[in-house]
Amino acid sequence: MKVHVFTYGCQMNENDTEIVKQLLLKEGHELTENEDEADVVILNTCAVRRKSEEKVYSHIGKLKKKGKKIGIMGCVAEKEKENLFKRGVAFVIGTRALASVPKAVSNAKNGNKQLFLEDTLEEIEYHRVETRNSKHHAWVTIIYGCDRFCTYCIVPYTRGREKSRPVDEIIKEVSTLTQKGYKEFTFLGQNVDAYGKDLKDGTSLAMLLRESAKIEGVKRLWFLTSYPSDFSLEIPKAMAENSKIARSIHLPVQHGSNNILKAMNRRYTREEYIALIENIRKIVPDASVSSDIIVGFPGESDEDFEATVDLVKVMKFERLNLAVYSPREGTVAWKYLKDDVPYKTKVRRMSYLLNLQKMINRELNEEYKDKVVEVIVEAQAKNGLFYGRDLRNKIISFEGSEDLIGKTVLVKVNKITAGPLYGAIEKILEF
Ligand code: SF4
Repeated sequence: MKVHVFTYGCQMNENDTEIVKQLLLKEGHELTENEDEADVVILNTCAVRRKSEEKVYSHIGKLKKKGKKIGIMGCVAEKEKENLFKRGVAFVIGTRALASVPKAVSNAKNGNKQLFLEDTLEEIEYHRVETRNSKHHAWVTIIYGCDRFCTYCIVPYTRGREKSRPVDEIIKEVSTLTQKGYKEFTFLGQNVDAYGKDLKDGTSLAMLLRESAKIEGVKRLWFLTSYPSDFSLEIPKAMAENSKIARSIHLPVQHGSNNILKAMNRRYTREEYIALIENIRKIVPDASVSSDIIVGFPGESDEDFEATVDLVKVMKFERLNLAVYSPREGTVAWKYLKDDVPYKTKVRRMSYLLNLQKMINRELNEEYKDKVVEVIVEAQAKNGLFYGRDLRNKIISFEGSEDLIGKTVLVKVNKITAGPLYGAIEKILEF
């Protein structure tokens, strides 16, 4: 069968798609990048916001009109399950049932509705996955699921409880990829700091980073996403010891008020969060810390919002992802908390924070003026310029050429904005 896989959502979904593509090829199916050419279209879906789920349903509608066999995987598959069959879907694959995809595709022509929810992750040979989106950077999921149950979040219900991959398996995957020219790796998990806890053998993210940094060919290691009360100071210590571990920590705080943090079931206080960042910065003074904030959570008063504004001013995050609260069906907040902040207030608060963060970005970026930084060239942007990131996850754009993608270059920064930095290549470093 000719199969097209379309990905919505996060990097973990991207990685799942890469794995599924490899599994399909192994079983003799053909892949196509063109949806219209495909016999079967698989949508790898996201349910984090209502909007992302709506996009999936509208895509299903279009595919039905084209007469395609449709498969659904990812968070919407797990959340909606059999309901999806009412929309004309041929098969539904749970978030841990990836290895069942080839079978579901083979059977799709029979017209029977197929639901696969069983965990088949152990059948995956991660080190054999060659269907990666990039030739130099690889996503590596190290832990599945989340046990934190933040009251607004659907993920623990769609992705299940935490399950870490064995460290040896991850090291084998990374080593195999370095032999094929991969040099940058991002370790992924909904709560990457919980990595190893369920293995109960002393395995941890810091240990994995240290071991991976020893592998020949590894140039840079990233990890996403951290959870404050699970974050270990062993991680910045590992960063301080090793220049291959990026000095970038994405540590979502979600709110600046203790009242709201409690209502969100985030298991730390504002004071604990601030102390954690201060400790990280003591160990790695140039650590780049970015964060996520939800605006307009139920019960958010003017004082609560002011507490968030104050936190943003004090913390000076390098990057801030802002989201307006919207209830997700099936979560505790949806069930028990009234969505009582008027939409206009949410939008006003959101744009206040956006402007504040813009000013902070501009101020922090000024420190880069005339600096020469080491960048791994990532890709070409629509404006024709090439771009890459430095060790602190700062994006820098410059004139370049296709053959530089994946190479390490020295770039001198010559233009500052509140967004990306601009510069010129000074030297191509041969690695
Ligand atoms: S830690 Fe993240 S993934 Fe887990 S429940 Fe909270 S917001 Fe969702």
